[in-house]
Amino acid sequence: MTELETVHDFACIIVIFGGTGDLTYRKLMPALYNLKDKQQLSGKIAIVAIARQELSLDHYRRSVYEAIEEFSRSESEAGIWHSLQERVYYHSMDFNNDNGYLELNRLLIHLDQKHGTGGNRIYYLAVAPENFPLIVNKLHSHGLALNPPAWQRIMIEKPFGRDLTSARTLNQQISRVFPENNIYRIDHYLGKQMIQNIMVIRFANLLFESVWNARYIDNVQITSSETVGVQNRGEYYERAGALRDMVQNHMLQLLTLIAMEAPANLDTESIRDEKVKILRTLGEFSAETVRRGVVQGQYTGGMVNGALVKGYREEERVSTASNTETFVALKVKIPNFRWAGVPFYIRTGKRCHTKLSEIVIQFKRLPEILYSKEYNLQLEPNVLIIKIQPKEGIYFQFNAKEPGMTTKIVPVNMDFCQNCDYDGDSPEAYEKLLLDAIKGDSTLFTRWDEVEHAWRFTDSISRSLNDAAAMLHDYPAGSWGPVAATNLLNYDGREWWNEQ
Ligand code: NAP
Repeated sequence: MTELETVHDFACIIVIFGGTGDLTYRKLMPALYNLKDKQQLSGKIAIVAIARQELSLDHYRRSVYEAIEEFSRSESEAGIWHSLQERVYYHSMDFNNDNGYLELNRLLIHLDQKHGTGGNRIYYLAVAPENFPLIVNKLHSHGLALNPPAWQRIMIEKPFGRDLTSARTLNQQISRVFPENNIYRIDHYLGKQMIQNIMVIRFANLLFESVWNARYIDNVQITSSETVGVQNRGEYYERAGALRDMVQNHMLQLLTLIAMEAPANLDTESIRDEKVKILRTLGEFSAETVRRGVVQGQYTGGMVNGALVKGYREEERVSTASNTETFVALKVKIPNFRWAGVPFYIRTGKRCHTKLSEIVIQFKRLPEILYSKEYNLQLEPNVLIIKIQPKEGIYFQFNAKEPGMTTKIVPVNMDFCQNCDYDGDSPEAYEKLLLDAIKGDSTLFTRWDEVEHAWRFTDSISRSLNDAAAMLHDYPAGSWGPVAATNLLNYDGREWWNEQ
């Protein structure tokens, strides 16, 4: 591909619906700034932000600059900001208003001429999900959705539906306007550096791939915990809960990447096909299996990082009698040849002890012969940990003789910290995702059948929890969740890695 073709392909206008929202200020604009800083953006690009507030262009650009100063991972530089701000525009309209779309169309045609963006569009829906169908329909009826040979892509924030039925309805509404390969459903976890590294660790290392199966692996633990509570998102969280907010999307995506077979090649659909096979394989929970395999909890008041914090039911816009789960732990089996009998323990929660996302691969113990027998000791199993955030890296534990005249064998480790070595230079998830959408690479976005199977699985959990009238366990803020989550593993003779 020549340089000229590259620039032409990547030229576009990014139209952000929800241009004054939290996501735009905190994530999208800093991501675009960093892409500009790293010279990843084509010169032929423009950004149009849309919201209801009446703001002058100067005012809007100033507020974007302030957001970049506050949230960007790299220091803002006048020169870079200057060249970016000339491409940032603001259009005030209500999503309902037809005149607003007519004016938007005129603005976009004008900007095509000014910036050479050739009619290519990314429509980024950084808005509440109830607005998704409205905006998509208006884009269609105003002739903004499909204009070949230029391309028009749509980026959609989570949540994609609140169960299988609503997700199907939403998907039908969007698919009537945009073909599947132009729909970019965001799971921002997939944009994280170490998530992209999972396939590399597995399929570029003989050492790991050759033992990546039920013969050698005892169990897998996937944790994503936060120390924050629901902050100002109580209203949303009351309807979502940890299962819908985290498990249906981020946690199952991690599971598929760890469990999938090697794709035939690295193209988008081959990778997605392998991930979907895992989601299809997951059996549905029943009232019986949910009792033994799922723990749900809700935080009460407690201490987090030395500060006293309130319980979930005392949070703003949360019912004082709420039964929404802020923590969930589950044991999942993948009934295929590679994983027969290996439990995957998943847990996620708010107001936990530590902010952490990591995947622990615990290998089987060696038979008790040789060193164990001779010296009467129990050797620790090998453990591989893929650290996703806040620390990015890989930790590997193995056994070695303690130095000196002793015969003692102790676990030692190799600890590779990726974001220590590349200090401050590790791109944010939204940078990667925006750049991929501009390039037309949808590998790190979820295909419809992934969403569909993930909902089928999580719906079976919610349904079965109801059928079983399952208990909602309390846990104090600042802990690792309810005691029942510890017991989930203890009953199997195992422990969470951080509790060992
Ligand atoms: P937000 O702060 O409430 O922003 C909503 C935006 O939409 C504002 O710019 C608002 O501006 C605009 N808006 C609302 N109704 C409108 C209407 N009728 N016409 C025109 N503009 C309208 O929301 P957010 O936190 O950025 O979240 C946006 C989406 O991203 C949601 O789907 C959320 O679930 C998802 N998400 C957010 C985060 C995050 O970190 N914030 C993370 C993951 C996913 P005006 O009021 O000026 O019109």
